[in-house]
Amino acid sequence: MKEKVKLWDKNFKPYINESEISKAVSKVAHQINMDYAGKCPVFVIVLKGSFLFGADLLKEIDIDCTVEFVQFSSYEGTTSTNEVKTLMGIPASCKGKEVIIIEDIVDTGQTIEKIYNQFIDFGVKSLSIATLLFKKEVYQKKYPINYIGLEIPNTFVIGFGLDYDELGRNYKEIYSLENQSMLNIVLFGPPGAGKGTQATKLVEKYNLYHLSTGDVFRANIKGGTELGQLAKSYIDKGQLVPDAVTIAMLESEVEKHPEAEGFIFDGFPRTNVQAEALATFLEKRGTDIQLMLALAVDEEELVKRLLNRAKDSGRSDDADENIVRDRIKVYNSQTAVVADHYAKDNKHVAIDGVGDVDAITERLFAAIDAVI
Ligand code: AMP
Repeated sequence: MKEKVKLWDKNFKPYINESEISKAVSKVAHQINMDYAGKCPVFVIVLKGSFLFGADLLKEIDIDCTVEFVQFSSYEGTTSTNEVKTLMGIPASCKGKEVIIIEDIVDTGQTIEKIYNQFIDFGVKSLSIATLLFKKEVYQKKYPINYIGLEIPNTFVIGFGLDYDELGRNYKEIYSLENQSMLNIVLFGPPGAGKGTQATKLVEKYNLYHLSTGDVFRANIKGGTELGQLAKSYIDKGQLVPDAVTIAMLESEVEKHPEAEGFIFDGFPRTNVQAEALATFLEKRGTDIQLMLALAVDEEELVKRLLNRAKDSGRSDDADENIVRDRIKVYNSQTAVVADHYAKDNKHVAIDGVGDVDAITERLFAAIDAVI
């Protein structure tokens, strides 16, 4: 096994060697051979990640079977709509058959959910799922994972079919991302304080992942999802989307980026319940918020900025002065208190958010450099 693997900008260390993988594959093959004795299941290999697991597994399957392939890709830009695109659809030969889906890894279960439902809608006789790796602690769905090679914690892994930005699939062994301490920042302030603008600059300098709850909601509205419809009914009135919905969405967005070196949370947390949920959630991942940067801008300047922004952004919640003032009211009555949550741990830094954009950026850089 290699001592270290570098893919793009990240280092990976040895995690699961060839013989452990091979034992896990044999275990799954043995269980399937027993459960499907006398039947003729269809093995459906989910590309691309499962090609090596599928190949090794099938060499140990000693019952009659057929083999098919499917390929899906989840759309991911700077924001995600949770949309799963079908690149290679379900083959007609699966109809009415006993199907075994072969996955490389199951984590939150988002992809499995989409695949599972597509197969059920397609009309199969039975469906089971076999995965080489299973991140039990982050799995959020109810679908049974019938065959599991190995359970692993929520760490980012590559090799044996799994990739980091398409590299690393060819390794015989599995490697995990080298531990680096994360830098997690809450970028705070009222609507129009300049959080989005400044977040872009922080992302560039500190290599963080920018997670804006407002952007995710808007992407969902655009994508016509159920979450989008629900969020729209609150956003249009300048109100907050309920905590339970927002927290679940935020967690699922964070889980999609196990490779991130840190996050800039923009527009989250907006209530103390959200702040507590974030702390608990990050603690489970062995990390925390290091800093809350709070941009301070007076109300009249905020209103001016938002009405001005509406001309380019097309955001209806920016265009109507009454909604804008309601959002600022909501910020003052429900959100501003969140600063105390971080102030009591000495993590709150107020930044003057008025003046030259670059000068404000320099103030933010200085506050971050003081804690790293
Ligand atoms: P923003 O783009 O951050 O100004 O967010 C636009 C709108 O999305 C807000 O006015 C809320 O209706 C909703 N929203 C964004 N983040 C949250 C959050 N953390 N909690 C509740 N609602 C949110």
